[in-house]
Amino acid sequence: MDTGLLIALLNPGIALTLGAAFLVLWFYQRHRPYLIVLAAGYSASAAGFLLQYFTLPVGMAPTKLMSILCFTFATCCLAGAVIARYGRRVPYPAIGILAGGGLAAVSWFLFARPDITWRILAINFSFGGISLVVAAELRVVRNNGPTEMILFVLSLLSGLNFLARTLAVVIAHGPFTSYEGLYTSSYWTTALLSHALLSLLIALCLFGAAALDVMKALKTETLTDPLSGLLNRRGFEERATLVLQHCATARLPATLVLADLDHFKALNDQHGHAAGDRVIADFAAKLLLAAGTGGVAGRIGGEEFAVLLPLSDLGAARLFAETIRTLYSAGRIDGLPPDTRVTASFGVAARTSDEGLDPLMRRADEALYKAKGNGRDSVCLSYQRLKRSSFPIGPVPAERQRRRRINVFFAPR
Ligand code: GH3
Ligand code: MG
Ligand code: MG
Repeated sequence: MDTGLLIALLNPGIALTLGAAFLVLWFYQRHRPYLIVLAAGYSASAAGFLLQYFTLPVGMAPTKLMSILCFTFATCCLAGAVIARYGRRVPYPAIGILAGGGLAAVSWFLFARPDITWRILAINFSFGGISLVVAAELRVVRNNGPTEMILFVLSLLSGLNFLARTLAVVIAHGPFTSYEGLYTSSYWTTALLSHALLSLLIALCLFGAAALDVMKALKTETLTDPLSGLLNRRGFEERATLVLQHCATARLPATLVLADLDHFKALNDQHGHAAGDRVIADFAAKLLLAAGTGGVAGRIGGEEFAVLLPLSDLGAARLFAETIRTLYSAGRIDGLPPDTRVTASFGVAARTSDEGLDPLMRRADEALYKAKGNGRDSVCLSYQRLKRSSFPIGPVPAERQRRRRINVFFAPR
C-alpha cells in the first residue's frame, strides 16, 4: 500500500472512529443531544474525505460537490455541538451565512468557472469563519473550566489554520491547476495533517468534557433525593456547611428551619404509601419555591426537611416558616380527599456568631420537638441565650401558643 493512500485514509479512519465513539457515548447519554450531533459531524467528515479520493459514477464535479457538502455539514455540526455543549445559544444565522456563502462560491468555481485554487480559498475561508464564530462564543465561557479554555484556543487555532495556512500555501505554491498537482502539494499534506491533529485534539477535549458531565451528574445524583428533588441529608449538610462558612467570612446572619410533617404515619396508613409520597413531593416543591435561589433546602429524613436561609435573622425565618405552615395546612393536595388536611411543625434557630451546622441543627431540632409537643401545626423558635437573665426559661403558656401558633423555645448553652 503506498504512503499517499495511507495518509489519505488517515483522516477518514480517525473521523469514523471518533464518530463511532460519540455515537456510543450518546447511546448511554441520550439526554445530551450534542453527542449525536458530534457523531453525525465526524461521520460526515469521514465521508467527505473518502469522496475526495473515490469518484462516484455521477462524475468528478458532482462528487467533489458532495464531498464539500459533507465537510460543510461536518463543520456546522461540530460548531453547533461545541457551542451548545457550553450552554451558549448557537448563532445559526452567522453559521448559515458562512456555510451557505462557502457552498455557493465552491459551486460557482466548480461548475460556472472551474478553478481549484478559488475553490480551496472559498471553502477554507468559510470554515475559518465558522471556527472564529465558535471561538467568539467560547470566549465568554473560556474561564469557566479547563475544557472551555482548551476548546477556545483550539477553535482559534482552527480558524488560523483554515485562513492563514491556506492563504500562505496558496501564495507560496499556487495556483493549482490539476488535482494531481493539488494532492501532491504542500497545501494538501499540511491540510490533511493539521486537520487530523486538530480534530483529534478537539474530540479528546470533548470526551473530557463529556466525562466531566457524567461525573458531575453522578455527584449530583448521590447528593439529591429522587422523590422530592431536594438535596438529601448528605447533600444538604455539604451545601449548608459551605454556605455557613461563607456567611461567617462575610459576617452575615443565617437561620435554619427544620420542618416535619405531622401524623405522617397515620396519613400513610389511611391513604396509602403512594399518597404519602405525593405529599412529600408536594411539600418539598413548596419549600424549594419559598427558599428561592439563596436558600439551601434538603430532605434530611423520611418526612423531615431542612432549609438554611442565609442573610436572614430569626424574625425573617419565623415569617418564612409561618407562611409555609399557613399555606400548607390550608391548601389541597392532588389525589387526597378534599377535606384532608396535612400539617407540618417547624423549628427555627438563628445562628449565633460562628456556630457550626451541627449545634444549629440540634437547636432547631429541639425547637421542632417543642412544636410537636405544643400540639403540632406550629412554629417554635430557639434562642441562643446571650445573657442568662435576659429571657424567661421555658415555653410560653399553652393558651397563648394555640392563639398565635408561634412558639418560643429557649435553648440555654
Ligand atoms: P409526628 O407528627 O410526631 O411527626 O408523627 P409522624 O407519624 O409523622 O412521625 P413518625 O416518625 O412516627 O412517622 C414517620 C412516618 O413517615 C413513618 C414512615 O412510614 C413515613 N415515611 C418515611 N419516609 C417515607 C417516604 O419516603 N414515603 C412515605 N409515603 N412515607 C414515609
Ligand atoms: Mg412527622
Ligand atoms: Mg419525623
